[in-house]
Amino acid sequence: MSKDKNKLKDYYDKREIDESPEPKAEMDISEDEPIFVIQKHDSSNLHYDFRLEVDGVLKSWAIPKGPSTDPDDKRLALPTEDHPLDYANFEGVIPEDHYGAGEVIVWDMGPYQNTSKKEGTSLSMEEAIKKGHITVNLKGKKLEGEYALIRTGSEEDSRWLFMKMKDDKADARRNPVSTEPKSVISGKTIEDLKKEDQND
Ligand code: MN
Repeated sequence: MSKDKNKLKDYYDKREIDESPEPKAEMDISEDEPIFVIQKHDSSNLHYDFRLEVDGVLKSWAIPKGPSTDPDDKRLALPTEDHPLDYANFEGVIPEDHYGAGEVIVWDMGPYQNTSKKEGTSLSMEEAIKKGHITVNLKGKKLEGEYALIRTGSEEDSRWLFMKMKDDKADARRNPVSTEPKSVISGKTIEDLKKEDQND
């Protein structure tokens, strides 16, 4: 079990974890480079959960409209509770009457590099989060290149914006949220999970 259960207090507080298919924390660190994951989650509101591995947990933001590959699109990103690393592989249906009830697929996943800087000096992820100015280079199956997460206000729980930075992976014509709806793990869509759930 994770040594740092306190870090995940909000995660456990929000859930009856023994009655949900969602994972408990077992992993402390991923094997090689840190990972990011984007889970498409059809809960009361459809959204995309963007998660970054930082210091043994997944720092998380909910992006209602999902990511864009167009640097002109700034997408609202709302911080949510830290999730266990084990959550990165989670796909399934969170049952009714549970927190976050609805279908979850792993929409994109891969390693990332922290490229956050302040006046030319590299920042740790912890420092960048505190500053409210994170840049990461994503190596996903759908999203690649540099993305920024910028806090708009000064307070910790304020609104953030998620946006593509200008680089050779930026592409205003792509729209992966609508054209690439399948899980990168199982190939399933949210609709596939809904059908399976009805047949059970
Ligand atoms: Mn969610």
